[in-house]
Amino acid sequence: MAHGIFEKIIAREIPAEIVLETPQVLAFKDISPQAPVHILVIPKTPHPRLAQVPEGETLLLGALLEAAREAARLTGIESTGYRIVINNGPDAGEAVPHLHLHVLGGRKLGWPPG
Ligand code: AMP
Repeated sequence: MAHGIFEKIIAREIPAEIVLETPQVLAFKDISPQAPVHILVIPKTPHPRLAQVPEGETLLLGALLEAAREAARLTGIESTGYRIVINNGPDAGEAVPHLHLHVLGGRKLGWPPG
């Protein structure tokens, strides 16, 4: 039985709209989208946040970026543009302690973020 909410999604214990899956990574639609396209890309290993990914896990970190790029292509925002965000820790608004990249697109995104 998986514990965290994203682990439950990986284990298919709760549903999600999956965009892509690789042996290391899962990408699925955010349940509360902040843009017309809003995808979360997560490692299947439940590192709580970036700071807790062991040093040297460069293949995993690279796989996350590659999956984010591929998810953007699959959802049609490659040419219009998109933003990749990691909310790391309380000041950034991190709510789910399982490392995840947000991929946002499909509209003009303001900068800097509020
Ligand atoms: P963060 O604030 O960076 O930790 O983002 C957590 C994200 O997870 C939020 O954008 C939520 O909408 C999203 N989220 C929470 N539960 C689910 C779920 N069951 N399926 C998809 N997205 C979720």
